Amino acid sequence: MATRTTSLGGSGSTADQLAVRRHNLAVVMTHLRTNGPRSRARVAAETGLNKGTVSSLVAELVARGLVTEGETERGGMGRPGQVIDLDRVNYVAIGAEINIDYISVLAMNLRGETVAEKRIPLDTAHMAPDDVIRHLARTAKTVISQMERRGSSAIGMTVAVPGIVDSSSGVVFDAVNLGWPQIPVGEVVRQRLGDPPFPIYIDNEANASAIAELVERGAEQPEDLLLLTGGVGVGGGIVARGELVRGARGFAGELGHMQVNLNGRRCGCGRIGCWETEVGLGALLRLATTSGDLVRDPTVDLVDRLEELRRRAESGNKKTLRAIEAVGGWLVEGATSLVNIFNPQVLVLGGYFAVLGPWVTTALEEGLAAQVHAPEAGGCRVELSTLGFSAAVRGGAHHAIRSVFDDPTAVPLLETIAASAKGATS
Ligand SMILES: [Zn+2]
Repeated sequence: MATRTTSLGGSGSTADQLAVRRHNLAVVMTHLRTNGPRSRARVAAETGLNKGTVSSLVAELVARGLVTEGETERGGMGRPGQVIDLDRVNYVAIGAEINIDYISVLAMNLRGETVAEKRIPLDTAHMAPDDVIRHLARTAKTVISQMERRGSSAIGMTVAVPGIVDSSSGVVFDAVNLGWPQIPVGEVVRQRLGDPPFPIYIDNEANASAIAELVERGAEQPEDLLLLTGGVGVGGGIVARGELVRGARGFAGELGHMQVNLNGRRCGCGRIGCWETEVGLGALLRLATTSGDLVRDPTVDLVDRLEELRRRAESGNKKTLRAIEAVGGWLVEGATSLVNIFNPQVLVLGGYFAVLGPWVTTALEEGLAAQVHAPEAGGCRVELSTLGFSAAVRGGAHHAIRSVFDDPTAVPLLETIAASAKGATS
């Protein structure tokens, strides 16, 4: 990630100077996240800020509980410097996900480390929305209290949902695979959590996953990335010039409802032959299993069910391999159109597609090379996500934590927190 720096000039108003300082605090935080722990001198050399400025910025970040001082960095010329790093205890962000067959909650610290994670198999498609949200809120409350006991405050939470989401209002308009009508998920989650003192964001599950794919590549972040995430539904996250493409009203990326087979099956959205009717998990299970097979049982953890499918494919089970081949063919079909349109540097297969990786990657690479109009598939390479079913919750947590990286002064000084706690108890 490119870091831009601004030096404090001699002129300009106090407001300008405060804005510059806030920007530089953000530069130091982001630099540590992208590049890892290092000395103040190294941060100065790498960001172009002067050493005195960096020392003063770091002092403020330490006072806000965002940065900690670690051991001494040796090697190189000159005096050894103390290494600074993002704090791992004071603050966490919460990522939550409602999906078909499971709910999930994760707490992540400023370093991007997972501090707690709970995924619960739940037949969400056959439950009332309010019951699903109640389960999610209960799980989130458990994680948040666990965090409070270790001295960590939640600074924000994102709930990822597989549907059409208006992020600005927190309303989910249509989640066809959950069978949900329009629901103000943001408002209901806030009520169920007892109106907590942090922001709650609602996002589409594939968008949240794409944020994780982007942020977690650190300094290696590609500018143009296309994420295809496979579950019962198929979602897409489009990243262009380093930013997630959300479209005019935030509804971009509904790749699963791209029509690919006019003679196909009816989709949950009501149309015929949408891509997800051919490549969604439902299609694979329909082809690879018969009714009563434990792999179809929504009460069994999805990871275990997919592990069983992987085991069958590895042992050469013909029915499983034929099913994967059929799904892989349709995967190539849709991906070719998308690569023609977006010309991504990297096409990431996420969700259950990543589990199929060993069997579909070669077919996909060959299919793209043969069918994409541009030479060599426009330079697009295929990668498998390594985030598993944690992608959306990790991306959600990254999204919720972003406000602190954008403006570190959004969190109070530790002194202020201590004083108000003292005031509250006296
Ligand atoms: Zn559809």
